[in-house]
Amino acid sequence: MATDSKNLRTGRTVWQSRRAPVIPYTPLTRDVRTDVLVIGAGITGALVAEALSGAGLQVVLADKRRPMAGATSASTALIQYEIDVPLTDLSRKIGAADAARAWRRSRLAVTSLAAQIGERDIPGVVSRDSLYLAGNKMNAADLQQEAEARRAIGLETLYLGRAALKERFGISRAAALLGYGNLAADPRKLTAAFLNAAHDQGARIHALVDIVDVDARKAMVIATTREGHRIRCRHLIFATGYEFPDTVPAKGHRIASTWAIATVPQKSRLWPEQCLIWEASDPYLYLRTDSDGRVICGGEDEEFSDACARDDLLARKTDTLQRKLAKLFPDLDTRVDFAWAACFGERPTGLPIIGEIPRMKNCWAALGYGGNGITYSRIAADILRTALTGGRDPDADLYSFQRRR
Ligand SMILES: Cc1cc2nc3c(=O)[nH]c(=O)nc-3n(C[C@H](O)[C@H](O)[C@H](O)COP(=O)(O)OP(=O)(O)OC[C@H]3O[C@@H](n4cnc5c(N)ncnc54)[C@H](O)[C@@H]3O)c2cc1C
Repeated sequence: MATDSKNLRTGRTVWQSRRAPVIPYTPLTRDVRTDVLVIGAGITGALVAEALSGAGLQVVLADKRRPMAGATSASTALIQYEIDVPLTDLSRKIGAADAARAWRRSRLAVTSLAAQIGERDIPGVVSRDSLYLAGNKMNAADLQQEAEARRAIGLETLYLGRAALKERFGISRAAALLGYGNLAADPRKLTAAFLNAAHDQGARIHALVDIVDVDARKAMVIATTREGHRIRCRHLIFATGYEFPDTVPAKGHRIASTWAIATVPQKSRLWPEQCLIWEASDPYLYLRTDSDGRVICGGEDEEFSDACARDDLLARKTDTLQRKLAKLFPDLDTRVDFAWAACFGERPTGLPIIGEIPRMKNCWAALGYGGNGITYSRIAADILRTALTGGRDPDADLYSFQRRR
């Protein structure tokens, strides 16, 4: 086995109610050679393949499922630069200078992704501000400090006290932070656009190709498929989401279960500005709207034990999400059209692992974690493009295996 195997999601996601985007993939019927093999055709594989093929490298992308059938199609796709671990908290964990770099890098990633989306005219993506509500992990005073810390590194952030929050957004909470310039996407349309762009640049996409063995040699990496075909490449990238390569050191990562719902459409009842909303609480709640006027709402994470236990909780978690949503916005219609459960990855710092895998020459990991997975996918694409074309990304050390925290 090259990666472990998980039942990544169950239930019906809101994205599955829309026509599946077309991806030009083929089966793999013979041995092939390429500059780079990317394993995984989710959002990470798509962004990485697009970046590398755009840089002139020959790319083969292989997935054991069909494209976009992993975590990506379960994503609620709030694409934010505000990462899961607040700047003040991350500063305590990894030092102020590195925390500032991590936050700024995420800002840059969302800005760059927005530029690519605009350039390619990708459907299903809108620009959104975001509202971070005080909760049981951060109170009003903590949020005030957080706002100051963010502004001190150049990230414009507005602190809203109780009265201002109620007046502008109709929400009754002690305080909130308003951040600017994030995105909300349909994750399948977004991924499909980048897979198609990679394909147009010469990348070959093979689906239903399970990579069961990876042999990293001095001058070449050989990946073997379940059918026994070999893919010889100069570099291999694991973009395998929450199915980790056997060879990747665990380094504190944890697989959680998470749940999400989408309500009935209700364009006239949505909150002002339709900003992305999430809260400084554990367990936390987050929400956004979609183009049909539904509210998509998720959270309630728990330690993953097995897929059956996760799926058994779907009805109960749906009730909890509905109840919390109704408490936040009493005028919303919280009837549920879609409910789903999925695996989710977390690390104490909230940062992803991107970099060359120790003792596996020319084999790279692009493994995103937590609620900022898509932002991290874009960072992975940038760092890997630079590394594989002979450069050195100035922030690569933040996400590398060599980091101790
Ligand atoms: C419910 C939920 C809500 C989320 N909400 C957000 C959000 O609001 N914002 C955000 O930024 N992120 C969010 N995330 C996280 C984000 O969706 C993920 O980080 C992202 O989708 C991961 O994409 P990926 O391409 O790395 O993984 P995946 O989409 O899982 O793709 C990995 C692929 O690798 C393939 N694979 C694995 N092993 C092999 C092998 N041996 N051979 C061949 N193929 C293999 C799998 O079949 C799979 O298709 C959410 C995730 C979930 C589950």
